[in-house]
Amino acid sequence: MASQEDLLATAQRLGRENFLPRAAGYDREGRFPTENYDDLREAGFLGLVIPERYGGMGVDYSRYMEISAELGRWCGATALTFNMHCATMLWSSQMADDLEMTPEQRDNHEQRRIGIYRKVVEDGAIFAQPFSEPNSAAAAGKAPFGTTAAKVDGGWLVNGRKHFASLAGSANYYGVLCTEAKEAGDADVRDTIYLAIDGTADGFKISGEWDVLGMRATSSNNLELTDVFVPDEHQLMPRGKYYEAALNWPHMFMSLCPTYMGIAQAAFDFTCQYLRGEIEGGPPAGSARHSAAKQLAVAEMRIKLEQARALFERAIGEAGMNPSKDERLRAYAAQYTVMEFANDICRLALRTCGGRAIFRTLRLEQLYRDSRCGALMLPWTPEICMERLGRESLFEPGER
Ligand SMILES: Cc1cc2nc3c(=O)[nH]c(=O)nc-3n(C[C@H](O)[C@H](O)[C@H](O)COP(=O)(O)OP(=O)(O)OC[C@H]3O[C@@H](n4cnc5c(N)ncnc54)[C@H](O)[C@@H]3O)c2cc1C
Repeated sequence: MASQEDLLATAQRLGRENFLPRAAGYDREGRFPTENYDDLREAGFLGLVIPERYGGMGVDYSRYMEISAELGRWCGATALTFNMHCATMLWSSQMADDLEMTPEQRDNHEQRRIGIYRKVVEDGAIFAQPFSEPNSAAAAGKAPFGTTAAKVDGGWLVNGRKHFASLAGSANYYGVLCTEAKEAGDADVRDTIYLAIDGTADGFKISGEWDVLGMRATSSNNLELTDVFVPDEHQLMPRGKYYEAALNWPHMFMSLCPTYMGIAQAAFDFTCQYLRGEIEGGPPAGSARHSAAKQLAVAEMRIKLEQARALFERAIGEAGMNPSKDERLRAYAAQYTVMEFANDICRLALRTCGGRAIFRTLRLEQLYRDSRCGALMLPWTPEICMERLGRESLFEPGER
């Protein structure tokens, strides 16, 4: 197995040499970072979190989170979309392994994931993870998904609509969360089904324009699903297991935040280089770094960065099945802190570097726009993390 140091070094080399020079162009054109994915594929990173026995690199959750943060330092859109791919692989491997299953479920899941991982490792397939829907209560974990999956011979028929489907048009498969359609009874979150839809399937359509403030290269368009047939082999988790994972492996929802940890680091690095006169197009080396006001602002950024990083590291080290109450609450606090501080560090960076830093020829204004998107991401938005932190601190399960 490659060492974590080597993988981090590869992520840094790809980021610094390839992703960073391309980032402004992707952002300006709102174009998916296809060339970055070619680099990731060539480095074997599409199989980063796939266990070694299936031909992947066998990186576990917490190691992945560190690598994701390094990618986010160089291109937020690449790290965020790559997370959709890696999260799909992690949910079906490390997390699924921790869940209780009957021998039959385990066996079926094993057969299916062999086929799924082969598509990635041998064919270089990319997986998206669209769960958000126009009614956001489902993505927030508070209502069943409106997209339905009806059992038919040999597979499922899927109908519904997803929005914010990052990698739309660039992924080969879309890991879609649906509610199993039953003849009688109301839709139930426990009946969530997780299916990989082939992007070339009949009834699969991409719609809408993705012309947005930040994360412009994520291609997060809408998906319209009309009687899309999904074969049984494309079921990513056995029936009912996504619901159990969401309840008992809560850190699975933290995997969006390393991208923003990386953006925060990039904004801090940029500010230091800018004030030292090391950024082309910025001010020459001179008096800027001697200013006490600027030194204080940089100190404030550093303190926020250290706080976010420390909480992030601690939380990812505690990830697993059935975390303690403190560990669960710390995960919410970590997510909140990274998402809010990333944007705040970018805000401080812009104010500290000054007017010349808002030019689009420099990187900072893109970091600022991209960082704003972190707090919009369900299911763990800052509001939802706050709500859970408050309620779960004051009430034990079952108390009213
Ligand atoms: C760049 C980008 C890429 C994305 N990529 C993906 C992707 O690949 N896959 C995917 O599934 N989704 C993706 N999303 C979607 C994202 O996770 C959210 O679903 C989407 O941003 C929510 O849209 P909304 O703000 O209209 O939702 P709203 O629900 O209207 O949210 C508005 C506000 O209400 C709050 N809120 C919402 N529900 C609750 C609640 N139940 N309790 C308390 N507060 C609540 C939120 O915290 C938020 O502040 C992406 C979003 C962005 C910005």
